[in-house]
Amino acid sequence: MNHYECACPTPGCGHIVCLPPQLEERLRRTHETFFCPAGHKMWFHGKSDLEKSRDSWRRQAQDAWNRIRGLHQLLDSAREGSRHCPLECGYRVARVWTQEAIRERMAGHLVDVHGAAVIDAPHVADAA
Ligand SMILES: [Zn+2]
Ligand SMILES: [Zn+2]
Repeated sequence: MNHYECACPTPGCGHIVCLPPQLEERLRRTHETFFCPAGHKMWFHGKSDLEKSRDSWRRQAQDAWNRIRGLHQLLDSAREGSRHCPLECGYRVARVWTQEAIRERMAGHLVDVHGAAVIDAPHVADAA
C-alpha cells in the first residue's frame, strides 16, 4: 500500500489519516482542507511541484527584468555622460533625448565654442 499516511496535527489527537495517492496529489495541489477521523480540519500548506516550478519561473522572469533594467540604467547614465562637454567647460546638452541628437548638439558646441575641427561627424548624403 502506498497510501500517504499522516498523523492529525491537532494537539492531543494524532489520528492517522490515510490518503490515496490521487487524493493526496490533489490536496497538495489545491490546498483544500480535509478532516481527520475526529473531525479536525487540516490542509497541506507546503508548495506543490507545480507551484514550485511556477515560483522558479517567476524568479527567472524577475531576474531577466532586473538585468534589462540594469542595462537601461547603464544606457541612461552613458547618455547623461555624453551630454556634458568633454572639455569640461560646463556646457550640457539639454532638451534633446536621442543619442544621435545629443552627439550632434555636442559636435556643434565643440566646433562653435572650442573651434574643434569636425573629423568624425557623420556624413549626411545630399538628398537627390
Ligand atoms: Zn484529529
Ligand atoms: Zn565645452
